[in-house]
Amino acid sequence: TVGAVALDKQGNVAAATSTGGMTNKRYGRVGDVPIIGAGTYADNRTCAVSATGHGEYFIRNVVAHEIASQIKYANKSLKEAAHHVIMEQMVDFGGSGGVICIDSKGNISMPFNSSGMYRGYIRKKGNPKTFIYNDEAEGL
Ligand code: ASP
Repeated sequence: TVGAVALDKQGNVAAATSTGGMTNKRYGRVGDVPIIGAGTYADNRTCAVSATGHGEYFIRNVVAHEIASQIKYANKSLKEAAHHVIMEQMVDFGGSGGVICIDSKGNISMPFNSSGMYRGYIRKKGNPKTFIYNDEAEGL
């Protein structure tokens, strides 16, 4: 999977996800990626989410929308909601994978319960030529 989430100057968030699907998938399988709310979701009132992992589990847990819902209805921060869904709900359910998320305030969270997940972010602040890149993303 290659996923991206973004926030613009006006506070609009966006999410995009692309995948070749699972290895040896059945012909005609539709994974979580093109299903809005499962592997991909964006709402200016909460956050943008792009997921990677075992799609069937992400569909059954409507993961991307679940994170947004926990922000909206359970008053969680982006990090609390994303970590709860990926590290607790999905672990209990048996679903392996992770998400990248950003909210309309610019908070970022990138939890994963799989053995690894390549990820990074670029932040543009003040001087548009100043980029901070962190591929370790500690604590996010
Ligand atoms: N989530 C994708 C799928 O189940 C797999 C991936 O992460 O690339 O189709």
